[in-house]
Amino acid sequence: DYIGTPDANSTVGNLLNWASSNNNNDNNNNGNSPAWIPEGNDLETMNELISKLNDPLFQDFESFTDDDYKNIFTDRQILYDDVVKNSQVSEPKVDNLVYKDDDLAGQAKATILSLVRNEDQKEIISAIRQMEDHFNKNFNYPYTFLNDDEFTEEFKEAIKEVVPTDRILQFGRIESEIWDRPSSIDDEKYQQCIEKLDQEEVQYVKKESYHNMCRFYSKNFYKHPLLQDYKYTWRLEPGINFYCDINYDVFQFMELNNKIYGFVLNLYDSPESIRSLWTTTMEFINSNPEYLNSNGAFEWLKDNGQKPNNFNITGGYSTCHFWTNFEITNLEFLRSEPYEKFMDFLDEKGGFYYERWGDAPVRSIALALFADKRRIHWFRDIGYNHAPYTNCPKCPPDSNRCNGNCKPGHFTPWKELNIENCQPVWIKYIMNEEERNLY
Ligand code: GDP
Ligand code: MN
Repeated sequence: DYIGTPDANSTVGNLLNWASSNNNNDNNNNGNSPAWIPEGNDLETMNELISKLNDPLFQDFESFTDDDYKNIFTDRQILYDDVVKNSQVSEPKVDNLVYKDDDLAGQAKATILSLVRNEDQKEIISAIRQMEDHFNKNFNYPYTFLNDDEFTEEFKEAIKEVVPTDRILQFGRIESEIWDRPSSIDDEKYQQCIEKLDQEEVQYVKKESYHNMCRFYSKNFYKHPLLQDYKYTWRLEPGINFYCDINYDVFQFMELNNKIYGFVLNLYDSPESIRSLWTTTMEFINSNPEYLNSNGAFEWLKDNGQKPNNFNITGGYSTCHFWTNFEITNLEFLRSEPYEKFMDFLDEKGGFYYERWGDAPVRSIALALFADKRRIHWFRDIGYNHAPYTNCPKCPPDSNRCNGNCKPGHFTPWKELNIENCQPVWIKYIMNEEERNLY
């Protein structure tokens, strides 16, 4: 009987309280307990939210000409240049940043997390070196390495060699019952589906391990025994680059500013890989509307102005998603009822295998629906690259924070890939004035 105002003491009320935030700027340093308790969603609000999720961002799209689409894209490129290429960025202007040697430095319940194979050794070591050099040498956060196979001694030794001797390292195995394709997936159907998607050139679709990885990162990683005592993870992938020093404790930034999720890049996805993800999501929402956050990032999910085909193929999803190869996550969000119920629902539908649902769109949809958008933070100060995309901040002229190996505002070396950038949508429709002026 969730249709009605939930009692603040009911499960639903608590969930809503949990998922909302206090973002009043005069009082934003209360890490754990929101200072104001929102009203629960009443029937009218829920219907409004659902109808927002059914509507495209541009409702007059049927009259759009090619020029209209071109203009939308051009305006967005200008906005991106304005914010990323031309505005100087140093670090968030909040008064609670924690620096090296401060009492709280390195004290968050947090770990750097890498899912890797033994053969990723060289590339993960490069990533760790940069992580240490630009951030962790000052904060000493532990690393957790997970693998569906046993890590070799050689791998473990090689990692130990690149970090200071006092750095805590955990190496864990993922059980095959957790990692492998579940028996509920029909083998014949799976083979047929991936054959078809392969013809549509969906990347990685024939690699079963990739499907396993996406499912693991969506619904299982945060349940791993080695992560039980942690509240935050910072995901680190092989082969990435960092370009700028991060002089404050980013985990404490999350904690003290009440953030659920931190990202640096956000993109459009390959719609063929998630053909039924949105319609499946709406099925879930229609039976669980009480999980919707009335301050969700809905416009970002519903953009149909830049890649309208993506929106059409998926039946109503922009395909905008946080690029999860970098993500700083408050695991309490993943461990919450809305997220877990949603994961169970998606898993039952089989789309991690019959399609190639990525953990990125899955996580992103959950965040945009269930979390308060003010609790999702774009780390625009972090210079980061995972081929073929880069977030490169422009520093003040007297700053040597960045090493000069990226070009400010240069999203990708391939010009035709600029259209894949969804960050302008985030900037225009989701961020408020205060957030734009945070740096
Ligand atoms: P991409 O970034 O989408 O091209 O995919 P990656 O190959 O980088 O994979 C994403 C993450 O999952 C990386 O951290 C990989 O090391 C990890 N990963 C992918 N497949 C496997 C696998 O089969 N086993 C293990 N242990 N890790 C994997
Ligand atoms: Mn990768």
